[in-house]
Amino acid sequence: MEYCEHIDSIKEVTPSAEGCEDCLKIGGRWVHLRMCMSCGHVGCCDNSPNRHVTKHFTETAHPIIRSVEPGEEWGYCYVDEAFYRSLPEVS
Ligand SMILES: [Zn+2]
Ligand SMILES: [Zn+2]
Ligand SMILES: [Zn+2]
Repeated sequence: MEYCEHIDSIKEVTPSAEGCEDCLKIGGRWVHLRMCMSCGHVGCCDNSPNRHVTKHFTETAHPIIRSVEPGEEWGYCYVDEAFYRSLPEVS
């Protein structure tokens, strides 16, 4: 699989929270969870009312996210609007 240049920015991260960090603060609800691959920030997807993971990209310009839904390992680059079936392992 070919990746964009932003793949170099991904790190070995651990999820920042068990749910969307920002929804947990405001008592919001989410549909699916995504994780930022630059800092481990967990946020909610674009089907969620607050779209926190997109907001995280807008605020930080961290380009790559992945799904943290059980059984899902796809990733996405916001800058290139590119979906990846899986992301490379970071050692
Ligand atoms: Zn990219
Ligand atoms: Zn949220
Ligand atoms: Zn981040």
